[in-house]
Amino acid sequence: MTAKNTPTVLILLGPPGAGKGTQARLLEEEFGLVQLSTGDLLRSAVAAGTEAGKQAKAVMEAGALVSDDIVLAVLHDRMEDPDTAKGVILDGFPRTAGQAEALDQLLSRSNQRVNSVISMEVEDGPMIARVAGRYTCATCGEGYHDQFKQPAKAGVCDKCGGTEFKRRADDNAKTAGARLTAYHAQTAPLIAYYEGRGVLERIDAMADIATVSRAMSDAVKRVMAT
Ligand code: ADP
Ligand code: ADP
Ligand code: ZN
Repeated sequence: MTAKNTPTVLILLGPPGAGKGTQARLLEEEFGLVQLSTGDLLRSAVAAGTEAGKQAKAVMEAGALVSDDIVLAVLHDRMEDPDTAKGVILDGFPRTAGQAEALDQLLSRSNQRVNSVISMEVEDGPMIARVAGRYTCATCGEGYHDQFKQPAKAGVCDKCGGTEFKRRADDNAKTAGARLTAYHAQTAPLIAYYEGRGVLERIDAMADIATVSRAMSDAVKRVMAT
């Protein structure tokens, strides 16, 4: 049973393009949890030119996984921040068995554990198009897609009115293919790992954003109620 006074730890598991970031932001708003994206943390480290960022840059551009040590260091720093007290949505972490074990150890130090893992189930083929068409608001980070999620007014962010947008260097068809390969080799085995612990829930993430959101929200409500 989840004690009400311990933070909820929710993991979103899925390949690039599955919708982890999109759904994490919606769950953040609905449940007051904080999204922790290791991809975002690593991109900030690269932009800031830190030692970790320097080491991660080429690996990310190639679509491979950054070493567990670097990822754990950036995540650990972020988890110390007080805003994570109510609970966190881990988006893109853990991605290897070593990271999953390190997470268990980190949580156990504060009597926490992983409460729920949502596996966002998708087909590989359409993920290339999702990744290649992705862009975000440069001001608030809201995610968009050339075809699947356009702002209501062209060129203006729905959330903040910003008019500048950006695309990630690794969001091209070639690198997306490498990232899918890395997902199947190194991350997909975590589905069985968490299923064995009885915390896994599978969601059909091929549906449209609103339908996936309802399924995710129902799953999180069940977890938060226990
Ligand atoms: P991830 O964080 O898993 O890599 P994102 O949430 O960034 O995925 O979504 C990838 C792209 O696909 C974004 O441009 C997003 O707007 C779009 N997208 C997300 N979910 C869906 C969906 N269910 N159907 C269609 N497009 C989606
Ligand atoms: P996506 O949303 O498309 O799944 P992310 O933003 O989560 O992509 O990750 C982008 C890149 O950052 C990955 O391809 C990888 O190089 C690196 N990265 C992010 N999270 C991790 C992690 N937990 N372990 C190793 N590398 C990571
Ligand atoms: Zn915005």
